[in-house]
Amino acid sequence: MKCPKCKGKNIIKRGKRYNKTNTKQLYQCMKCNLTFMKHDGFERMRHNKKIISRAIHMHNEGLSLFQVQDHLWQHDGIKVTRKTISDWTKKYSVFLK
Ligand SMILES: [Zn+2]
Repeated sequence: MKCPKCKGKNIIKRGKRYNKTNTKQLYQCMKCNLTFMKHDGFERMRHNKKIISRAIHMHNEGLSLFQVQDHLWQHDGIKVTRKTISDWTKKYSVFLK
């Protein structure tokens, strides 16, 4: 992990910030004193992180895109295309390890 400003590697944790949907870890750079939040890749998502995580998980468990799509509609009332789910699995599975 690096400081976004000076690229320094001496980073310490500065506690957490909470809001309704997620928790963000705050960090401080010991070199330039910049306080920053870690970007986890989910910030620009239109859909809830929980929904996306679940969709990817179901798909990884062997459900077809159609079954995942159906599940999201039946259980969560969320309409997404199979293409969207497919994109999620490609884009975000790396963040869910
Ligand atoms: Zn720095």
